[in-house]
Amino acid sequence: MLKSYYEILNVSPNATKTEIKNQFRKLVRIYHPDVNSSVEAEKIFKEINKAADILLDDEKRKNYDKFRSTDKSFYSKNSSNYTFSDLFSKTKKEKPKAPVPKNGEDITVSVNIDFTEAFLGTYRVINIARSMVCPKCGGHKFVNGNKCSYCDGLGEKILKRKITVKIPPSIRDKAKLRVKGEGQFGLNGGKNGNLYVIVNVEKNDELKVENGIVYYTAQISPAKAVLGGNISVPTLWGEAVIKIPPLTKANQSFKLIDVGVLNERTNKKGDEIVKILIQIPSEMSDEEMELYKKLNEVNKKENV
Ligand SMILES: [Zn+2]
Repeated sequence: MLKSYYEILNVSPNATKTEIKNQFRKLVRIYHPDVNSSVEAEKIFKEINKAADILLDDEKRKNYDKFRSTDKSFYSKNSSNYTFSDLFSKTKKEKPKAPVPKNGEDITVSVNIDFTEAFLGTYRVINIARSMVCPKCGGHKFVNGNKCSYCDGLGEKILKRKITVKIPPSIRDKAKLRVKGEGQFGLNGGKNGNLYVIVNVEKNDELKVENGIVYYTAQISPAKAVLGGNISVPTLWGEAVIKIPPLTKANQSFKLIDVGVLNERTNKKGDEIVKILIQIPSEMSDEEMELYKKLNEVNKKENV
């Protein structure tokens, strides 16, 4: 349905010349090509100029009113059908669509840490490469018809970055850590992806951890077991030296306190249990053999 000039300017048919002029100025500020470049705005701008041209000229307005009264059906009968906000929403709807926001992809990397690090917590520096739309050519690959020199015509740039990732204590094998927003860049206002770090914990043949307690089996010689002395044992925190008493038996256990798994809540370290295995050497020197023979003689006398 065609709109009347009054409807175009959104004024009453009884509006005064000043009212029409003010309304016209208001609309010009919205639809002037300098401030609104959409095709629809250009159309409206032409319409409001034409309407103002008629309605602000006494002679033309009189003729126009006469014409309107003879053929009312030609126009919308209810001028309120076409309101100011309609003008807005109309131009909004028909503007070229804004680019759709696109969230960036996630990046997943894996790191290896050793057994001790897994319990103590550690850091890893991760190198990531993120691609972004070339800021010079805006991803169009060409600038003024020439291949974009900044991105070498690829339309994107690779940004390399080092990220230090904190690996918390007591982490389990294959745990997945998330570093928020460090994935690929989002486009058109979309969110960045996340960086996921998969933590591989290398096995440790010496130390075992069960229910927060560290276990270690120490192999000692028969002589050491009999005479006692210092032995070196690994812990999560490095080597420790413990003193075993004379006549230590096979499978006897010793508890080391404050060298085990760190309890994050209490900030206290747990225990390590050292089990003793007495190992007979696979080879022995003549001297050692002689000593054992002597020992055997003594044992015989004592009937052991
Ligand atoms: Zn470029």
